[in-house]
Amino acid sequence: MHEVSVVSSLVNAVIAELGKYKVTKVNSVTLIIGDLTNLGEEQMTFAYEIVTRDTILEGSELIIEREPIELLCSSCGYEGPARILTDPDYSSHSIPVLSCPECGGQTKVVKGMACTVRCMDIEEEE
Ligand SMILES: [Zn+2]
Repeated sequence: MHEVSVVSSLVNAVIAELGKYKVTKVNSVTLIIGDLTNLGEEQMTFAYEIVTRDTILEGSELIIEREPIELLCSSCGYEGPARILTDPDYSSHSIPVLSCPECGGQTKVVKGMACTVRCMDIEEEE
C-alpha cells in the first residue's frame, strides 16, 4: 500500500519537528494532499493509525485538505483548474485531463502534487 510509506515518512518528519518543543499532547495533524497524488483519504487515515501507534502522535486526528489540480498552458496562457472526466466504468473515479481545457495544448501542473504537513495542533508544557 503506497499510502503507508507516504504517511510513514510524513509522520517521521512531524515527530522530528515535535522534538524541538516540549509537547505533551498532539491534537491533530493537518496534511495537504494534491488531487494528482492518487493518495486515498481513507487509506491515509488507516495508515496514520498504524504508523502513529506507540508514538506521541498516537490518538491524534489526521485532517486531510485536498489541493485541486491547477494547470498553466504554455500555448494560450490558460491558468486554472484541470478538466475532470468521470470514468464510465468506475463512476467514483475521476480522471483529470492534463491538456489545456481552452486550446488542448501542453500544460504545466502548478498545483495538485502537494503532499506535505500544513500544520499541527499541539499542547506544550507550560
Ligand atoms: Zn491553452
